[in-house]
Amino acid sequence: MQYCTRCLYPENHPYGLIFDEDGVCSGCRVHEEKDILNWSERLNLLKNIVAENKKYVSGNNFDCIVPVYGGGDSYFTVHVVKNILKMNPLLVHYNSEFNTKMGIRNLANLATVFDCDMVTSTLAPSLLKRITRATMKKYGNMYWQVLAGRYTFPVQVAVKYRIPLIFWGVHPWSDQTGMFQHINEVEMTERCRKEHGLFGVSAEDIVGLEGLTRSEMQNFIYPYDNEIEAIGVRGIYLSNYIRWDSKKQHEQMIGLYGYETNLQQRTFNTYEDIHCFHSAGIHDYLKYIKLGYGKITDHATREIRLKRMTRAEGINLVKNLKQQEPKDLEIFLNWVEFTREEFKNLYWNRRDTNIWKKNKNEEWALRDSIENYKTGDLIEKVKLEKIEDCKFILTEKAEPDDIENKYLLMGRNYINKDNYGAIKNTVKGGGMTKRKWKESSL
Ligand SMILES: [Zn+2]
Repeated sequence: MQYCTRCLYPENHPYGLIFDEDGVCSGCRVHEEKDILNWSERLNLLKNIVAENKKYVSGNNFDCIVPVYGGGDSYFTVHVVKNILKMNPLLVHYNSEFNTKMGIRNLANLATVFDCDMVTSTLAPSLLKRITRATMKKYGNMYWQVLAGRYTFPVQVAVKYRIPLIFWGVHPWSDQTGMFQHINEVEMTERCRKEHGLFGVSAEDIVGLEGLTRSEMQNFIYPYDNEIEAIGVRGIYLSNYIRWDSKKQHEQMIGLYGYETNLQQRTFNTYEDIHCFHSAGIHDYLKYIKLGYGKITDHATREIRLKRMTRAEGINLVKNLKQQEPKDLEIFLNWVEFTREEFKNLYWNRRDTNIWKKNKNEEWALRDSIENYKTGDLIEKVKLEKIEDCKFILTEKAEPDDIENKYLLMGRNYINKDNYGAIKNTVKGGGMTKRKWKESSL
């Protein structure tokens, strides 16, 4: 396995990497542009797009869409669109149902502090279960519905509401592996969504599995070309116009808007993934089983490129990632209605054999590890000097963690000093009528 001589990425990165003669990956090379490009000029290019767009939306209630999910770069994207570009966005949220309380709280807070309208798609629980079971059985993928919903629903809303402009935050494929340069100003396409965002699996591929019909999969079907063209839908990535630094941006959002952060099971990054029970848990564990690396490698790589971590420090962090089972597995299995045995049968052997092999006891072991590539002339030659420390802030929690270990399906679209969700524990003598309620099953 070849590893980048500057960051921690292996050659089996699923987005595809190429290495130059110094062994530096395409992701690291494109990242260098962040310190070369004239970013105030690039912001003006973005403002030109906004001015152009004004012609098409005059009279509309909303002049653009911002897809949000309460974590990641949702806050910063809305901040830029609302406060820097002076637009009135419609926030569009796909509800994956794997929500943590903090995720719902951050989402409600987002709509409140930016004072925005938000539409949410919350699909039938049994439908999401069946889709998840189907993608797990056929593709070994538990997260397809989350990403497919997140990449599809905003585009459907753009067509339905006739709002042509969608603002996404980072272009993940360029930021991680340098698929395009910033100056290419690449925009959203269905092809990139399917091939790289959805692992090559479209909604149509799932029809027929677990009895899923075409109409049930409609929520995940990308609008047709003629619909996109009729409205002139465009998806713009802010990271092509603003120097992207996720850590700094989150810290700005913590300071300005009270974004909450939390410790994560499988990464040092306390800012991302906190909205989801599984993103930095079982979902990441399965990535590790498949590819031999996980989120912590993504996060350390980013910090190395931004000169806040040395490569050696990154390797030490990755080393601590054990094959330990994440705590959220039980919650997920209860939800998806698989036994532990069924789950293991679906996953255990889905390994990239370029990185995994079976040892004498028929157990899987890594063939190779980044720890074997700590030093070398090339590594010395291409290394970046660390210029600042890498400390992630842990905010004070508005309430205790998700002790009941249940997904929180929904909250209000706003927050006040008392609450962000539907009131669950009503006071004696008041509130909702008692009802017999049973969790829906297959
Ligand atoms: Zn690299």
